Amino acid sequence: MLKPIYTISRIAEILNADAKLIDEQAFIQYLVIDSRSVLVPENSLFFALASHRNGHEFIPDAYHKGIRNFVITEEKYLSEYPDCNFIIVNDVLEALQKLATAHRNHFNLKTIGITGSNGKTIVKEWLYQLLAADYNIVRSPKSFNSQIGVPLSVWQIDADHDLGIFEAGISAVDEMETLASIIRPQIGILTNIREAHAEGFNSKKEKLIEKLKLFKAADLLIYSPEYVSDISLKDLPGKKHFSWSSSQAADLRIIAIEPIEGNCYLQAIYQDREIECMLPFKDKASIENGMICWATLLALGYSPEQADQRLEKLSHVSMRLELKNGINQCSIIDDSYSADISSLAIALDFLNQQNQHPKKTVILSELFETGRDDLDLYTEIADLLAQKKVSRLIGIGPHISKYAELFKFETQFFDDTNAFVDAFPGLQFSHETVLVKGARRFDFGRISKLLTQKIHDTVLEIDLNAMVGNLQFYRSKIKPGVKIMAMVKAFSYGSGSFEIANLLQFHKVDYLAVAYADEGIALRKAGITLPIMVMSPEESAFEALIKYRLEPEIYSLEILDSFLNSLSDYEFDYPIHIKIDSGMHRLGFDSDEIEKLLLLLSGSQRLNVKSIFSHLVASGEAEHDGFTQQQIEKFCLIASQLIAALGYKPLLHIANTSGISRWPNNQMDMVRLGIGLYGFDAALTNNRGLQTVMTLKTTVTQVKNLKAGETVGYSRRGVMPYGGKIATVKIGYADGYNRAFGNGVGKMLINGQLVPTIGSICMDMTMLDITGIDVKPGDEAIVFNQDHTIMQLAEGVGTIPYEILTNISQRVKRVYFYE
Ligand SMILES: *Cc1c(COP(=O)(O)O)cnc(C)c1O
Repeated sequence: MLKPIYTISRIAEILNADAKLIDEQAFIQYLVIDSRSVLVPENSLFFALASHRNGHEFIPDAYHKGIRNFVITEEKYLSEYPDCNFIIVNDVLEALQKLATAHRNHFNLKTIGITGSNGKTIVKEWLYQLLAADYNIVRSPKSFNSQIGVPLSVWQIDADHDLGIFEAGISAVDEMETLASIIRPQIGILTNIREAHAEGFNSKKEKLIEKLKLFKAADLLIYSPEYVSDISLKDLPGKKHFSWSSSQAADLRIIAIEPIEGNCYLQAIYQDREIECMLPFKDKASIENGMICWATLLALGYSPEQADQRLEKLSHVSMRLELKNGINQCSIIDDSYSADISSLAIALDFLNQQNQHPKKTVILSELFETGRDDLDLYTEIADLLAQKKVSRLIGIGPHISKYAELFKFETQFFDDTNAFVDAFPGLQFSHETVLVKGARRFDFGRISKLLTQKIHDTVLEIDLNAMVGNLQFYRSKIKPGVKIMAMVKAFSYGSGSFEIANLLQFHKVDYLAVAYADEGIALRKAGITLPIMVMSPEESAFEALIKYRLEPEIYSLEILDSFLNSLSDYEFDYPIHIKIDSGMHRLGFDSDEIEKLLLLLSGSQRLNVKSIFSHLVASGEAEHDGFTQQQIEKFCLIASQLIAALGYKPLLHIANTSGISRWPNNQMDMVRLGIGLYGFDAALTNNRGLQTVMTLKTTVTQVKNLKAGETVGYSRRGVMPYGGKIATVKIGYADGYNRAFGNGVGKMLINGQLVPTIGSICMDMTMLDITGIDVKPGDEAIVFNQDHTIMQLAEGVGTIPYEILTNISQRVKRVYFYE
């Protein structure tokens, strides 16, 4: 069977769509949905998908990047770009799915389809590790499992592949049928089903029934009865079934789960005999995913001995890029997930999104792609690196070194990781962003260790995908055309500075706002070009503020006057923002000052009022809705007076996060999104629909057994009348773990169990009562995460999430994750 060759006209035929083709023979190899990530523009087809933004808006950018083939719905582009091929369809997403389905149907390979609430990606990656010895496998990249991700995944299939492993994820009813017909799995795996919360389903049962549609035509379904108790077994799809369970009768009946050192030993009854295996993990989620893989190997006909041998060698899967502070002011992006060209492209996009340093270095090992010769592969890589403006390549491995002359920028090559490590003391790394990306066998962990600062064992992890998810959540709530000002004051609510601002700039928010000029200057120095509003501009910083083109909030006649005096005679139309006090009584003009304000403003050509705004005091609280309404009315009245006198219309804005959610009719021209980005919204019950962005972790330093009556910590406040066991962890009030959390008020999660503090919180340390729990020095203690939430912490000490977040001191290292 040959790989089909797709010309643009062949694709139009498959889609059965109208087309305007300039070059009918244009050869299409890549499907592009985001104009920011283009590999080979000549052979790419851009799908103008409508999601949060209308994809047609990005056609100019895609064109600029060199793309000449488009699938669109809006015909006006035909005349605007006469040198392009256009396929015109009714629904761009449907077209993408249809093309992928046709591609899939061209091949006869064996396919495994995976769905469930958690674990899809890990199970997929582990099956890849377990089966790679016997098959040429194609699999979903990262967690590409959506209505868009699945078509892009199956598009990778070619004639060399004999097994496809694809994951499918859904968020609403009626979505699975489409994914099922694109993947057409013969073997189905249901990982698990969690409660329906925060997903678009009314009940767990509804969710289960929808997910099972993936397996409608499957020959074999691998599942656990624990997850399908809501339906009758005869309703399970699939011609044959293979079940596993640790609590009830099943084909693979697991009877013992015992942690041994860092591993986990499993025992089971299978075909009437006792079998066993060892998983090199000990956490609950990994054990569950491991059992699913065990069941799958047996269901596929591997012997228990073969299964055991392979499972024992599983390795940890990290699908995330990590962004960390490095030596000599470098930023290090660590990506050891997989070493293929599509993940390289994703990592390079992330490298480009982080603009804090002009210099960008990539440390890259040899890559391997089935069925491609090296020259072809490294030519593409060289083009890609050049296109993404990489300044320096450090290539590791003999193959990549052979193609040195393809890379037309600064390069260095080493035969292996050892040679690099030996040469490291003589290499220069300073004030640059370094992407470290290597195939597993090159063990690049050693390289990133050399490059990163030693991380003090308390870390705040920031999930950048979750933050983008939250941004999209609010995008879906605001009306078309309403701009977003993202609030990144106070180190982005504690989460970071340029890292977050770069992410938001990449995802095209319209404005940023900071509290002080210093914060804005730091962002400008890190490559942020978005307009930035400064809410408390100090007079002493006006000069710097002007130099860095920061836009002051003007809240009083005095500040206006002194700002005007700081502007040089050559400055005209300098952007400012006028703050109205509509009831907060903090900063801003009152109604009786408006006349004087207008006099000053209209007498000057030197200022341009970009926006007029006010702040709501209780947008999230129903009991104050009457007051909120008054604030809005007062603001609108004053704003209209200003507009009338100015003769032009600045942007009006009043809504903060809960304002967006609860006052949708008052989004005006712009909204100011703050805490919602970071995963909280007082207007949403349990922050429904938002994702957890931050996890704070620390480590156990020492474990002690105490006798009856002994006490813990300063002033003997922690009393153990019956004795017990304590663990000391490396976080204290100097890290932002408030002293009020002492004496059992605060709790942390250790090895899956919630344990209380005991005694007073110290400056750098906290003691936990771990009586009856297995804990060792070096174990991780979670201060907060998605299960043990900041909301719970805040309630415990009578404060709000804002304070918990912004209290985390700068001493705590921030590590950023991006998938
Ligand atoms: C902090 C702040 C916001 C953001 O408020 P959230 O409740 O975090 O969304 C909006 N406007 C002003 C003036 C602020 O100071």
